[in-house]
Amino acid sequence: MEVTSNLLTPRRATRQISVGSVKVGGDAVVSVQSMTTTKTSDVEGTLQQIYALASAGADIVRCTCNETAAAEGLAQIVARSPVPIVADIHFHVEMALAALDAGVDGLRLNPGNLRKPSEIKLVASEAKDRGVPIRIGVNAGSLHPDIYERFGGATPEALVESARIELAYFQEVGFDDVKISVKASSVATMIAAYRLASATFDYPLHLGVTEAGPPPGGLVKGTAGIATLLAEGIGDTIRYSLTADPVEEARAGRQLLESLGLRERSSLDLIACPSCGRAEVDVIKVATEAQEALSSLNLPIQVAVMGCVVNGPGEARHADLGIAAGKKRGHLFIRGQIIRVVPEDEMVAALVEEAKKLVAEGVEARLAARDLSAEAEAAADRAALLDFQGADANHATERIEKIRRRGSGESSTK
Ligand code: SF4
Repeated sequence: MEVTSNLLTPRRATRQISVGSVKVGGDAVVSVQSMTTTKTSDVEGTLQQIYALASAGADIVRCTCNETAAAEGLAQIVARSPVPIVADIHFHVEMALAALDAGVDGLRLNPGNLRKPSEIKLVASEAKDRGVPIRIGVNAGSLHPDIYERFGGATPEALVESARIELAYFQEVGFDDVKISVKASSVATMIAAYRLASATFDYPLHLGVTEAGPPPGGLVKGTAGIATLLAEGIGDTIRYSLTADPVEEARAGRQLLESLGLRERSSLDLIACPSCGRAEVDVIKVATEAQEALSSLNLPIQVAVMGCVVNGPGEARHADLGIAAGKKRGHLFIRGQIIRVVPEDEMVAALVEEAKKLVAEGVEARLAARDLSAEAEAAADRAALLDFQGADANHATERIEKIRRRGSGESSTK
């Protein structure tokens, strides 16, 4: 794949912790997290969702542990989960201890509602004895009231102060197996809070815009916050908080990391031109059909759907595979080189067939197997289209002459 991560600000150095088998921080790849929406006591339903999340790209999954039945469920879930399980704890110290008894790989504590220092230290001690890491999960919506008052609101400084105080309790019992989050639903607050956290701590940071809402708005907010920080080298693990099937969260997290070049491509990346007056097909329809046909195959390649043969193959020459529409025909190309010309109604089928072959045989083999007359046929199609549409859709030559005439004093009001 195209390596782009070295174009971003280098990752800030953080300590490394292990959440079960997944390393977080240090030189570990940025991991993707999500959270189940089932009752944790529903072991089969929760495991089903965990498997779906794992196959959509989640490296770590969090489950609520809000009652004894949930802790009992966790005891069974942990053993059968394909990914490490973190228990989400609010209010109840006994649920944190029960989750540790259940064998979870990590805890998330909310310092805003689990407030007694003696209880916080007890959980940290128990976690330390078991080698289980804890996320200090500060949330602007449930900030400790004393801190809220002292800072006059859930400001970035207040969020970081909450994490600092919790960390001090942990340090009293010699526990530092920690990662930190300072989430807010305001993207600007969240960005400022994580920048400050990154300058204050060297613990790994778990990024997220909390309560971002349903897609597409929630995706935009999550991406605005998380991607901004990742591009600055801040963040070791991420979670989108969407009001949607959590599989959407895992998928979005994975796609974001792949699009930033922070993770290897593991699934299809379908790119498509936005279409314009030159388009020779309904690009949205063809792209949707291609997405549906290719998604289930989980092929780790970038596929382009382009609306016209004049610009398409050139504009998408970086794609592993693509198709561009001509006059009733589709030009199939690999890395910008035309390999086959197919009838318009066979475009999607040809794309799917070639995608499978490309993954199985590799780029060189598929280029070697190309139809040798395809390039000449494609050139003829392009020439015919240019004749028909005109190479100069904006009448640029005329306009440039007019600009030059104006520059030389022969201006015309026409
Ligand atoms: S590929 Fe062709 S149809 Fe698509 S945006 Fe570019 S010029 Fe327009």
